[in-house]
Amino acid sequence: MNTNDKIYVAGHRGLMGSAIVRELLRKGYKNIIAKTSAELDLREQSAVRGFFQKEKPQYVFLAAAKVGGIYANDTYSAEFIYDNLAIQNNIIDESYKNGVEKLLFLGSSCIYPKNALQPIREEYLLTGPLEPTNEAYAIAKIAGLKLCQFYHKQYGCRFISAMPTNLYGSGDNYNLQNSHVLPALIRKFHEAKISDAKNVIVWGTGTPSREFLHVDDAANASLFLMQRYEHPDIINIGVGKDNTIAELALLVKGVTAYKGQLIFDDTKPDGTLRKLLSVDKINALGWEASIELKDGIRNTYKDFVDNYDNYTMQKNKFVLS
Ligand code: GDP
Repeated sequence: MNTNDKIYVAGHRGLMGSAIVRELLRKGYKNIIAKTSAELDLREQSAVRGFFQKEKPQYVFLAAAKVGGIYANDTYSAEFIYDNLAIQNNIIDESYKNGVEKLLFLGSSCIYPKNALQPIREEYLLTGPLEPTNEAYAIAKIAGLKLCQFYHKQYGCRFISAMPTNLYGSGDNYNLQNSHVLPALIRKFHEAKISDAKNVIVWGTGTPSREFLHVDDAANASLFLMQRYEHPDIINIGVGKDNTIAELALLVKGVTAYKGQLIFDDTKPDGTLRKLLSVDKINALGWEASIELKDGIRNTYKDFVDNYDNYTMQKNKFVLS
């Protein structure tokens, strides 16, 4: 991939896609195409076909998806499976038909079995049942990575797939119902501090663990893989460390300087108990994450406060494109 090559970032307004665009610009790539969902509805096959025929991108980062936290995934499961299948079917098939040189499909750590051994190695895919609260999303993402593998097998396409762990950072979704835990806690603690609230409600028991990767690290890994990884087998992107939700809540409490109490609401689901990715494979290629969780939370909190009105006016924002 050269700095003048035509690169399409699908999902450039989302958390992952916007970080990929920033990283591409930072590294001197000049020929980036991006369309908002109002300009190009990626679920519409004929619209996507027209776009690829006209633009003929050489490289594609497929970061467009309908995404959301535990509540959104569980509640809007029909939309999560249908929209994600449609988006990726259209982009992957048109990338093949229009001679895209290389495509990176971004999946998620929720593709792995609910009770997978930890840390989760890439070969554990499809060895057991999925976590029910995000099964719809996971099935769509598994179909996406399989599409890439079968297009490689049958047509020789250079379509690769990477599975990032839970992401956070600038550009996240702060809608309290639909977001993931880290942005939700940043918003809850910040608003509790401002309004002098006595306590903050944390969903679930606080005992599940999650691994949190700063999206700037994930974008850096995405470019690294686009340049250096050729194999159709999936590859994880993570930090190799995890924290309980209770630990995370204390970290966010510290960064936001909130002085009140935490209350764990165990009527809300915990979801999968642990989801730590093995990063042996990507580390062996020469990449590792560089942003410490506490530093990442600090800079994410600053970005949230600086852009508070924008973030909190978002309604139901969980379509990325
Ligand atoms: P998951 O990784 O797909 O389960 O998605 P989430 O990031 O939404 O949730 C991770 C864990 O954080 C779950 O155990 C949630 O119950 C817990 N959690 C605690 N407080 C919150 C919150 O305010 N919002 C969300 N989304 N999750 C929370």
